[in-house]
Amino acid sequence: MFKTVRGMRDLMPIDAERMRHVEQVSRTISKLYGYEEIITPVLESYDLLAAKTSEEIRERMYSFKDLGGRKVALRPEFTASVARLVATKLRNEPKPMRLFSVGSLYRYDEPQYGRFREFWQANYELFGSTRPEADAEILILTNDLLKRLGLQNYRFKIGHTEILRGILNQEGMDEGKQNSVRQLLDKKSWEEALAIARDADVSQNCLTTLERLFETRGEDAFQVLESVKEIVQDYESALAAVENLWKILELVKDSGTQLEVMVEAGFARGLEYYTGMIFEPYVPELDVALGGGGRYDKLIQLFGGESIPAVGVAQGIDRIVLSLKKQGVSPKTAKEKSVVVISMKNESMAKALELSDALRKSGLPVEVAVMGRSISKALADADRRGVAYAVIVGPEELKEEKVVLREMKKSEQRTVEISNLTQEILASST
Ligand code: AMP
Repeated sequence: MFKTVRGMRDLMPIDAERMRHVEQVSRTISKLYGYEEIITPVLESYDLLAAKTSEEIRERMYSFKDLGGRKVALRPEFTASVARLVATKLRNEPKPMRLFSVGSLYRYDEPQYGRFREFWQANYELFGSTRPEADAEILILTNDLLKRLGLQNYRFKIGHTEILRGILNQEGMDEGKQNSVRQLLDKKSWEEALAIARDADVSQNCLTTLERLFETRGEDAFQVLESVKEIVQDYESALAAVENLWKILELVKDSGTQLEVMVEAGFARGLEYYTGMIFEPYVPELDVALGGGGRYDKLIQLFGGESIPAVGVAQGIDRIVLSLKKQGVSPKTAKEKSVVVISMKNESMAKALELSDALRKSGLPVEVAVMGRSISKALADADRRGVAYAVIVGPEELKEEKVVLREMKKSEQRTVEISNLTQEILASST
């Protein structure tokens, strides 16, 4: 017997519906905020995908040679594909440019709860603005998405890459070592990160600053940022980074968006290309990030384009679905007003098909009974599957342009005029 490949999943109807629901709301959000959808290939050249991702993701790509001998890989993230477009076909588009992409990604991660080898993301990217209102928009949009989905108690872990970079640059630490520090911080290995700094011969003042910084976090954003300012006072660009994060969070707050945050001065994300505010939404029920975002002003340049500032976010659809499930939030299903149309006799079958078509045109989901079962068996089957209404089409009623409408939950039925059928169903309260 064949099975799915390790780390791959079949999504059965309930889960598929949950996934598509999150996808649909994320698409609605893209339209409401002016992000235009683009569809890029799942398969890209290995070199493009490997160019500017983290070492960890690079090692876990599904890569192979195609029959033409090209080294290719399944995309592990959207950003490289979007950057390729922005550096080429979209190069001359006016700014700002807002792009949305949604689809599956592939990483050879160790499968575990919330970690799959095939997963879905909804991705929003805003190109062309260095201003804090662009960062604020990405935070507000993410908050809007999670709120609309009905998620409770979520919080944004927030930091700024340039706080750490500002300190380490001033201390003369090379980019390679800085990346190692970032990777360790991403894994919460603060001691090991400090050890690298110590080995790199940074000043004693720097070590003390880092130690204090890694311990600084809290839910009162402006209080935390006040402390961080004091801690990094000897490092000019680190201070500018704190000011930038302050401005972003102030804009969000003054816009009336209530963002629950956890500001962490030592927060780093694994991806190398971030150059500003970074964040991850999370819920207490799940020990993993629901998404990841931030600013990456130098990425497009790295892909051969001009220097175009950018800020964006990748929402992890699978983990959002898991969190909603844990919190018992279900999408409203189409089943509420679903209808099965059953023909009593062969000669009324064409009419049953015609009626189904008319009901669907009014937006009702309709199935036709196609198994040739008796009425009682067809009704039992409709009941088992939670269909809300049955329309029974029989030659006798048809003579008077009528059918039987049965409300499944109440086990009540009545004869209704065909011309009133849609109205009767739409107006009924089941
Ligand atoms: P990243 O692209 O690594 O910044 O991840 C962004 C978001 O994608 C994460 O916060 C997760 O929600 C989701 N994600 C990343 N890797 C996986 C995975 N292996 N399985 C499920 N979701 C993932």
